[in-house]
Amino acid sequence: SLDRRAREHLDALLHRFEMGSLDAPLTNWIGGCLTAGSGEAVTLDSPVTGNPLVRYADAGAERVEQAVQAAEKGQREWMTLTASERGRRMNRAIRALEGHEEALAELESLVAGKPIRDCRAEVGKVREMFEYYAGWCDKQHGEVIPVPTTHLNYVHHVPYGVVGQITPWNAPLFTCGWQLAPAIAAGNGVVLKPSELTPFSSVALARLLEQGGLPEGLINVVNGLGPSTGAALTDHTGIAKLVFVGSPESGRRIAEAGARRLVPSVLELGGKSANIVFADASLDDAVAGAQAAIFAAAGQSCVAGSRLLVQREVFDEVAERLARAAASIAVGLPGDEATRMGPLQNARQFARVSGMIAEAVTAGARLLTGGSHPETLPEEASGHFLSPTVLADVTPAMRIAREEVFGPVLVVMPFDDEADAVRLANGTRFGLAGAVWTRDPARAHRVAGQLRAGTVWINGYKAISVMSPFGGFGDSGFGRSSGLEGLREYTVPRSVWVETAPEASVAFGYGSGV
Ligand code: NAD
Repeated sequence: SLDRRAREHLDALLHRFEMGSLDAPLTNWIGGCLTAGSGEAVTLDSPVTGNPLVRYADAGAERVEQAVQAAEKGQREWMTLTASERGRRMNRAIRALEGHEEALAELESLVAGKPIRDCRAEVGKVREMFEYYAGWCDKQHGEVIPVPTTHLNYVHHVPYGVVGQITPWNAPLFTCGWQLAPAIAAGNGVVLKPSELTPFSSVALARLLEQGGLPEGLINVVNGLGPSTGAALTDHTGIAKLVFVGSPESGRRIAEAGARRLVPSVLELGGKSANIVFADASLDDAVAGAQAAIFAAAGQSCVAGSRLLVQREVFDEVAERLARAAASIAVGLPGDEATRMGPLQNARQFARVSGMIAEAVTAGARLLTGGSHPETLPEEASGHFLSPTVLADVTPAMRIAREEVFGPVLVVMPFDDEADAVRLANGTRFGLAGAVWTRDPARAHRVAGQLRAGTVWINGYKAISVMSPFGGFGDSGFGRSSGLEGLREYTVPRSVWVETAPEASVAFGYGSGV
């Protein structure tokens, strides 16, 4: 059966990475050792069948304490190396993934329910992130500030110490690599808590990285629930900065926990991104782009283009073509090569997405396609699958037009002119991403410049690179990841003053001459 096969596969992968077995998985990586948690049992269901897949023990406060201590030690050792050596070690560490890429992708695909080809791509992205930030290790120059010649003043960028990272289930390897690489390139030790729903792949990743030459304890992973293990991490006095990727609701709690201890945070939160299609756009490109923008990862992507705003003249044509494109997507088992869209990851998410579709239809929205269990699946695959869904006749006031669905659900809404399009696009609390489709370059830049979004695409969607800053406005969060901006989130500028006047100018009040 599908369940038996999944359990055997997971058991084999856990053995391969020496992470215990299906019956007793070791879900924490602390100071170079794999350990089980000490808290209550967490049960994970198979996204494909909805039946229980595996149980593990929540890490709990005791493991978090051990992890923070290990990270302090690992960070001290890391900083005894030269900057160039740290870069070399990062490059060597990521090469330790060679030969394990497929197993890592499988581990992710089994538990997250993501198509195997998407998981392979995630592993590739993690490699890019490490290679990119490895290059920054010996290029983090300080600056000399041109104060009067009585003084020399320079600024350099120093690590926080130990940082806490909390990540979601929708792209576990991607989000871990995304934050681990800049954190250690900047000289920090890390305690990472992945989502309790996808605990394994980040432990396997951290272990491989250490086998590749990172100091013991530089990266530690603790797995467990938000209110127990997560809260123990955010409240720990040894954590100097919090970096969170997840929902606005949890993000608010993380920022509050940080505020209580006066610890800064970076929040990478959700979105309700708009694709704006003008009548003069290449409609072929716009339809293909809009389809990929929302249905990749079954819509469980922070940058999902979940609102399609179409100029009224071409509204019917685009909506109809998009509904056809949606219905043609190969929904299937995550492990199959041909699958382009798998199930939703968990039962709670499935109930939320289905509930939001039903509510929208009751409020007057029209279902153009989807909204049900796909018929093409094997009978046993009765888990969290939902066919690609397109809704028209949606008004801006409806919940489905304002809130993040985080599922394969697209709302299509008409607009009249540029001003109308910008008003609609900016009409949510979120501000993560958006796209403009038009053949008029002046209009493309004019509209892009008015979108309240951290990332804007013109005649495309979803191009992202570790070289370019990423982050949100409003309820999509604050702070930036990727690029130099992402690296700077992990350092503090320190200003150093040297007296250079012939006579010392120790002063009461302000220093002389400056
Ligand atoms: P979530 O907020 O439910 O959980 C995220 C993480 O926070 C998990 O590890 C969870 O255990 C932890 N957590 C929850 N409560 C906590 C608490 N009180 N203290 C400490 N930790 C706590 O989010 P999710 O459902 O896992 O992920 C989906 C969300 O993530 C969506 O909103 C999506 O848009 C967002 N996301 C954003 C980005 C981005 O870069 N902006 C990327 C991926 C996902």
